Amino acid sequence: MNYSQTQFVCEKCGYNMIGFYPKSCPFCGASNENFITAKECSQKYKIVSFKVNSKVTSLKSYPSFGLEHSAYSISTNNKVFWIDCPSTFSKDLEPMDKIFFTHNHFLGASNLYRGYYTSFVWIHKYDSEHPLSNKHPFDKKFTQDFKFSGIEAFHINGHTRGFTFYIFENILFICDYFIKSNGHLILNPYGPIESTKKGAQKFYKLVENREIETVCGYNYVIDYQNWKKDFLMLLKKNSEK
Ligand SMILES: [Zn+2]
Ligand SMILES: [Zn+2]
Repeated sequence: MNYSQTQFVCEKCGYNMIGFYPKSCPFCGASNENFITAKECSQKYKIVSFKVNSKVTSLKSYPSFGLEHSAYSISTNNKVFWIDCPSTFSKDLEPMDKIFFTHNHFLGASNLYRGYYTSFVWIHKYDSEHPLSNKHPFDKKFTQDFKFSGIEAFHINGHTRGFTFYIFENILFICDYFIKSNGHLILNPYGPIESTKKGAQKFYKLVENREIETVCGYNYVIDYQNWKKDFLMLLKKNSEK
């Protein structure tokens, strides 16, 4: 595979530019002095992982990119599924069958993983249509909630139009819909705030009667009961406004 000349990675945020070299990063706006080729990226960075439990592992580039969010790997039914995808491409990982995206902000090197491991990339149709997504190949652009190998997908809109969260067994994958600010959870401000609020309410209806133990977010893995306290405060604050 000759990707060295055609794919660039912004070292400020990890955004992969497939087949073009703009003056500045379409995602974070950093100038192209911050770009390296995907091949250089694979040499300079590696993927580090840690186990969330016996079936779930978090994946991230090391050293870390400024903005890159954690991806997660789920091993079940003798297959490997990813939720989101690291910015760095590595040939040293267990082959993944599918990559399910929460949204289109951190598509990472999913096109390279897709090609090398013959995996299939799924994203909500709305997020596949975003300009940041238009060079990335997707195998399935879903339009409805689904369940696949025990992994449940729920479209809630908001932070991005296609934002989808996932539940596998007792683990919730919420990426950056809620972010930490001064020790508290807030709604991700990078999106339309009213529909992000609506999505948060929809999210809570979907999870409130579920048995969840752990929350896997963009930069944290945390016990659900602790997270929920913070989350309920956030919901209360939003309903007061
Ligand atoms: Zn960038
Ligand atoms: Zn995001």
